[in-house]
Amino acid sequence: MPLRSLFLLLAFAGVAGADPLTDADFAIAVQLREQALAGSSAYAIVESLTTEVGHRMAGSANDAKGRAWAVAKFRELGYSRVWVQPVRFPVWERGFENAAILSPRPQPLNITALGGSIGTPPGGVRGAVVRFETAADLEAAPRGSLASKIAYVANRMQRARDGSGYGAAVIARAQGAIYAARAGASAVLIRSIGTDEQSRTPHTGQMRYDNLLTRIPAAALASADADAVEAALAQGTVEVKLELGSRKRQGEYTSANVIGEIPGSEFSDEVVVIGGHLDSWDLGTGAIDNGVGVAITMSAGALIGRLPQRPRRSIRVVAFANEEQGVYGGKAYARQQAEHLAQHVLGAESDFGGGRIWRLSTRVAESALPIVERMYEVLRPLGIERGDNLASGGADLSAMRDLGMPIIALGQDGTRYFDWHHSAQDTLDKLHPEDLDYNVAVYAAMAYLAAQAGPVFGPLPAGAPRN
Ligand SMILES: [Zn+2]
Repeated sequence: MPLRSLFLLLAFAGVAGADPLTDADFAIAVQLREQALAGSSAYAIVESLTTEVGHRMAGSANDAKGRAWAVAKFRELGYSRVWVQPVRFPVWERGFENAAILSPRPQPLNITALGGSIGTPPGGVRGAVVRFETAADLEAAPRGSLASKIAYVANRMQRARDGSGYGAAVIARAQGAIYAARAGASAVLIRSIGTDEQSRTPHTGQMRYDNLLTRIPAAALASADADAVEAALAQGTVEVKLELGSRKRQGEYTSANVIGEIPGSEFSDEVVVIGGHLDSWDLGTGAIDNGVGVAITMSAGALIGRLPQRPRRSIRVVAFANEEQGVYGGKAYARQQAEHLAQHVLGAESDFGGGRIWRLSTRVAESALPIVERMYEVLRPLGIERGDNLASGGADLSAMRDLGMPIIALGQDGTRYFDWHHSAQDTLDKLHPEDLDYNVAVYAAMAYLAAQAGPVFGPLPAGAPRN
């Protein structure tokens, strides 16, 4: 017997007397899994959201429509407790966006403003393009060296099943305007953070400013348009013009997290939290990011809610407000729920598109790992791999995680996710009903077992994970 198996066996033997899960619990988890695989409501839910509401850009008219949709959908799905939790934030508006190569040979460019970017002054910004391979190279540009120039960051995101190429590439989007402004540039352009090569569809996403530096306009070029700029640069000086009508609206907007709950039969104040963010960017209809995450978790909770016998603890599904522009909904939830931290049994968030789950990772107390191993047995027939106990979970639950809430991370196949993410390609046609059923099967089985097991997964020390 391998040492690891031996260790798990011994560890499990140690808690066997206190095993909180019964054979009947596992039988119901398997039944939930099979029921979802035979056909869940997830696709119909995300179809309803993306066709009846469309995108849910934070603070837009569709933000309110999305919330009304979520309240109605929770009720329609049989959630007996439905409420909203107000969330406030400033509003950014996109406006028009145009760019072109002016010289040596004129050519229109497909761009999109990065979230939070200021607009350009009347008449736009023009300047010679200076290319940097990476954000780190731009960061190293000497102060004043880019006066009246437009900085361009060329880095390409690497495709990976777990989306691990995103972290390295996205620094250009998040920090590009800060680094370029420090060197004196009048604007910054980046190659879109996406994996769609030869595409004319640009990808947006949130950027940041440094309050001590000049704010400059920031936009992303579609990958084919980035290629065009680079081809022209290979032959000499390239002058580009950029016009953005984006701006911050006066005052703050009040949105809300929309919450639906299946009350537990025994300990209804103890909750298993699942969910995803309801907001999206505005270029597509927010199907993969993140209508689908809301749909998967709503559908999983509803399936549990239809069991003849309610779970012992509550299943809470949260459709979070404004994740895209600063995780406002997740932070507001954690501020309000900090005093109820101990009643949060386990959290899991769906925010990585509609691909199938292939790995189960956790961030739970060591003492709970034998219980997780038993829960994993329900997923093993699906071909799901067992990950480590260093999961960071998603953005919306990160504030709760940092307070010490145990996390289960259901890693999805994101091989194609970044072809469409944050772009006009984020539409319903990218989703497949059977894949969503598969996700619902995993969420329903895991959430149900956690609700039966109770507060055995924590407590964990507060603080962000170091990995
Ligand atoms: Zn998202």
